[in-house]
Amino acid sequence: MDGTSPAGGEWNFDHENRKPAPKGGLGVQHFEVVENDIDQSVRETLDELERSGKAEFIGLDGPRKFAGTRTEALEALKHFIQHQLPLFGPYEDAVHDQEWVLAHSMLSAPLNLGLLDPMELVIEAENAYRSGHAPISSVEGFIRQVVGWRDYVWHLYWDFGADYTDSNALEANAELPQWLMNLDHTAVESRCLSHALAGVSTNAWAHHIQRLMILGNFALQRGLNPKQLNDWFVDAFVDGTPWVMPANVIGMSQYADGGRMSTKPYAAGGAYINKMTNLCGGCKFDPKVRVGPTACPMTAGYWNFLDRNQAKLRGNPRMNQVFAGLRKLSDREALVAQESSRDSF
Ligand SMILES: Cc1cc2nc3c(=O)[nH]c(=O)nc-3n(C[C@H](O)[C@H](O)[C@H](O)COP(=O)(O)OP(=O)(O)OC[C@H]3O[C@@H](n4cnc5c(N)ncnc54)[C@H](O)[C@@H]3O)c2cc1C
Ligand code: SF4
Repeated sequence: MDGTSPAGGEWNFDHENRKPAPKGGLGVQHFEVVENDIDQSVRETLDELERSGKAEFIGLDGPRKFAGTRTEALEALKHFIQHQLPLFGPYEDAVHDQEWVLAHSMLSAPLNLGLLDPMELVIEAENAYRSGHAPISSVEGFIRQVVGWRDYVWHLYWDFGADYTDSNALEANAELPQWLMNLDHTAVESRCLSHALAGVSTNAWAHHIQRLMILGNFALQRGLNPKQLNDWFVDAFVDGTPWVMPANVIGMSQYADGGRMSTKPYAAGGAYINKMTNLCGGCKFDPKVRVGPTACPMTAGYWNFLDRNQAKLRGNPRMNQVFAGLRKLSDREALVAQESSRDSF
């Protein structure tokens, strides 16, 4: 803030952001952890637990990627502010097949472990704006993630209470597919899904848009059980702390709370994914095709989701336009029949 006015003259700079990544990626280096003896001994303990049958793990073992000490967390924050923050805003919604981090901070895990105070991020980001190092579009966007979203989600956890995870307003009861449970990216042909899943398997992380608009969107479209999905996110993600999940998964991503957190479901078809990622080009499906062998599961799944949930969502004024589109679909019957029996993605 500049006194009582928003810095930069506006409250929100999303119109300057939401850009797809350039063809060759952003080319920014993300923070890298140097492992030490503790990592080695933890790995040995985990291997032993698995060998003795006391624990089962999903995903691939590999070098640790996220800050795990106060010193590392401060280094990671410094690295992000210096190298990535200037590009954070414009590319925060982009997905690129060659860069898994892009300009994201990778700070959720150290934050959730209590290694950083959220205000430290806010102050460092604001300083970067005041010194001219980073533009307001990036700084406002980043501060809003931390103070806006993270804190909002924290308060919702206490406000919504313990039985919030039982919410299931859309009566979504499909079991999670085995390939999702096991993080088997080779079992799916949709490049967007496969790419996000490979990221979770390798890094125990995917960025916000992959969580919301690819993995979450897929689960919403296919009516996967929200509570099971919530548990899957807690288990599979490095930052999967129980307090942060319910509002994000049950509320924002699955609309299972009937609109207590979000004003409408975050459902989208392949056109959005085609715009924000470089994945559709090499995919066997076509984001523009709804019916037939090349029908994109995300596009067809989107219309099928609307068809299935029309009665439950009809009263929501923000859905009027999409339902008008659904009524005009010439191939609606064929699409619904195709998606009802789809068993591969
Ligand atoms: C379905 C779903 C599940 C999610 N699960 C988690 C989770 O288990 N743990 C978790 O910390 N975040 C979760 N998020 C929020 C967000 O996706 C991650 O915080 C972010 O991707 C972590 O990467 P980053 O640190 O590079 O974030 P950046 O993109 O660099 O953002 C900066 C920081 O903002 C905060 N933030 C931004 N959005 C949110 C949000 N919606 N909720 C809470 N914090 C937010 C995080 O602390 C993050 O580190 C989830 C979002 C969705 C849609
Ligand atoms: S064409 Fe469809 S399935 Fe393939 S990557 Fe694009 S959105 Fe995903």
